[in-house]
Amino acid sequence: SVVTRFAPSPTGYLHIGGARTALFNWLYARAKGGKFLLRIEDTDRARSTPEATEAIYRGLKWLGLDWDGDAISQAARADRHAEVARQMLESGAAYKCFSTPEEIEAFRETARAEGRSTLFRSPWRDVPESEHPDAPYAIRVKAPRDGETVIHDRVQGDVTIRNDQLDDMIVLRSDGTPVYMLAVVVDDHDMGVTHVIRGDDHLNNAARQMLVYNAMGWDVPVWAHIPLIHGEDGKKLSKRHGALGVEEWQAEGYPAAGMRNYLARLGWSHGDDEFFTTEQAIEWFDLDGIKKSPARFDTKKLANLSGQHIAIMDDAALVAEMQDFLAASGAETLSEAQMDAVGRAMYCLKDRARTYPELLEKAHFVLTERPIVPDEKSAAQLDAVSRGILSELTPHLQNASWDRETLEGVVQAIAEAHGTKLGKLAGPLRAVLAGRSVSPSVFDMMLVLGRDETLLRLADATG
Ligand code: GLU
Repeated sequence: SVVTRFAPSPTGYLHIGGARTALFNWLYARAKGGKFLLRIEDTDRARSTPEATEAIYRGLKWLGLDWDGDAISQAARADRHAEVARQMLESGAAYKCFSTPEEIEAFRETARAEGRSTLFRSPWRDVPESEHPDAPYAIRVKAPRDGETVIHDRVQGDVTIRNDQLDDMIVLRSDGTPVYMLAVVVDDHDMGVTHVIRGDDHLNNAARQMLVYNAMGWDVPVWAHIPLIHGEDGKKLSKRHGALGVEEWQAEGYPAAGMRNYLARLGWSHGDDEFFTTEQAIEWFDLDGIKKSPARFDTKKLANLSGQHIAIMDDAALVAEMQDFLAASGAETLSEAQMDAVGRAMYCLKDRARTYPELLEKAHFVLTERPIVPDEKSAAQLDAVSRGILSELTPHLQNASWDRETLEGVVQAIAEAHGTKLGKLAGPLRAVLAGRSVSPSVFDMMLVLGRDETLLRLADATG
């Protein structure tokens, strides 16, 4: 059955591109009822701090990309990598190379001077053991010298590399440490990985990794090298384009569901479907839908999809996610009563909101307490004339039945009595009820606040 993996090098944060790679692997595993494994490629000890690894866990957790079993540390498996290098030596697939760095450099210089390929050709490849010196050595895998190596890639098609372009790659350095290219293959093999979906910046590595698979007689996984993500200007995504870390988007208040949907569409498609749930993505995901051309990161599209996800999300789930968002951003979280109020108001907050801060802004009218202090823009709506008109609402609202139609009728009647339009009263009434110019409609606010609170706010402002 299918086993995929995400194998990030911890660099301090989960990059958008990494998150997309993780999502594709996760979707594929979930689509096929397989396993999705996580391997932290932490062999660069200087960069691979516990904090950097934590940042990856946090990003994946936020996106809901749960991995099966415990995360595997590549660095912790160095002995196993070295063991495989020795097995290759024993089987004759690899050899001891005693060339020193100076000798290798000298080889390259001569090659350059003579206009030959600078690929190092070790003189030790065919030297029998009996003629070996007692000196430090590296282990090199024997690369084929003739013919071609073909990488069957599910996205790029067949990629052919002439074998005379391959050198006898070092798999174990003279200090006994394994090289990264060996570690990846051994880990993928030992983890039973069947499908490797990763950025096409690793396509060149695949040819060298093939050497190891062949040397060990192991099955090569299905490879799918996906094009990197570009910015809106078509250039490779970089800091210039804005936030690169998934956590920055989380901090902006985009819902994880919107991010997942958007990331899934970065380089993969299912017909013309733009908006879909994670369940649908799992149902539809297939390697055939991965595009060969680089996808462009488009913040507007992310925002748009996020808005659509907010619109279909369960109100209680949304309140819980808002609360998580506030907690994660270190802001004050909502009290029980506020969560209740926001939950009741949610139906009219969702409309057109694309982020949690947008929802919170609209929710101000239930999060604030009397007396409402209007902000500057809102206060400008409330002059003596409009206060006077609004004060006439009170006796009518005292006995009105509390439904939208009746409330509209009452406000409409007052507006008409003063020769004005309902729309002209909405601004002042919004100032009274919310103290903000961004809010749900005045009738939705009255319905959510209820009669008593509405009358109290009117009395505060007009009394
Ligand atoms: N650690 C590599 C990276 O973060 C990925 C290696 C792989 O997927 O084979 O780019």
